[in-house]
Amino acid sequence: MDHSEQRIKIAVQKTGRLTNHSVDLLERCGLKVTKSKDQLICYGENMPIDLLLVRDDDIPGLVSDDVCDLGIVGLNVVEEKRLQEEQKGSKGMFKQIFELDFGHCRLSIAAPENVPYDGPRSLENTRIATSYVGLLTDYLKKNDINAEPVFFSGAVEIAPKLGRADFICDLVSSGGTLRANGLTEVAELLQSEAVVIQTLAPLGDAKQALVDKIIQRLDGVLKVRDSKYIMLHAPRAALAQIRELLPGSEAPTVMPLEGSDDRIAIHAVCRENVFWETLENLKAAGASSLLVLPVEKMLA
Ligand code: ATP
Ligand code: ZN
Repeated sequence: MDHSEQRIKIAVQKTGRLTNHSVDLLERCGLKVTKSKDQLICYGENMPIDLLLVRDDDIPGLVSDDVCDLGIVGLNVVEEKRLQEEQKGSKGMFKQIFELDFGHCRLSIAAPENVPYDGPRSLENTRIATSYVGLLTDYLKKNDINAEPVFFSGAVEIAPKLGRADFICDLVSSGGTLRANGLTEVAELLQSEAVVIQTLAPLGDAKQALVDKIIQRLDGVLKVRDSKYIMLHAPRAALAQIRELLPGSEAPTVMPLEGSDDRIAIHAVCRENVFWETLENLKAAGASSLLVLPVEKMLA
């Protein structure tokens, strides 16, 4: 048997906004990696998982062609590839299986400050510069607008200044780049975050079990990220009010306090961050000896 076949290959962005988050998340799932000399592969030392470091735009194709079993990439890139394939009459051979809650951004149309915009009709018979021709074409078609997408591979925001387009369609997160270029966001096409995609090629039981395990661990890592374990003492009579104040917690553990009939200890996992305001409100409700601890791992 060829054992290399039993290793999972995950395509990850080589250098860019998603790189650190992707590798960090996999490391928090327990994976230890060493980089190859040419910096193109990270070999898993303690799990049969290797990371292929590539350009983000190549990730859906690598997963589709079954070169990699999984990929971590922005939904914007996934949807663009899916629509390009669809517009060519073919189908991307991958499926989206998990959202990772980082790399948040949106694909939006933006207008130069001096160009009037009064709803999608204002785009009629204009040129729109973008790297996302598939997504833009889909949006124009759905809104029955006749406009011309102009492909730019980068620096889309300077297209209006160069006289190459009337509007642009690009990724936005804070909006700082748009403002710096005198552009205003006018329509949102897609909300995006990093996702895990899997090849549609059958993986076999052993590999699929490993993929399921990674996804379960990723889920655990994401769940604990903002989770806190909170411990406090309180009068028994304040229990109902305190439960209301505990953010995102399920059934708390309630214990008697030795030597005190009317005071109890309450322990709870809160699935949201616990802010100072929450602690102050709990204290005002009668809680004392408040302790908030980070949660390292969680397996539901
Ligand atoms: P590559 O060299 O891999 O092609 P790139 O320049 O296309 O890199 P990055 O700028 O690193 O890509 O962005 C990678 C992904 O990060 C985007 O596809 C998107 O999903 C996400 N992202 C989050 N915020 C932003 C933003 N403000 N601008 C661009 N991308 C963002
Ligand atoms: Zn790219």
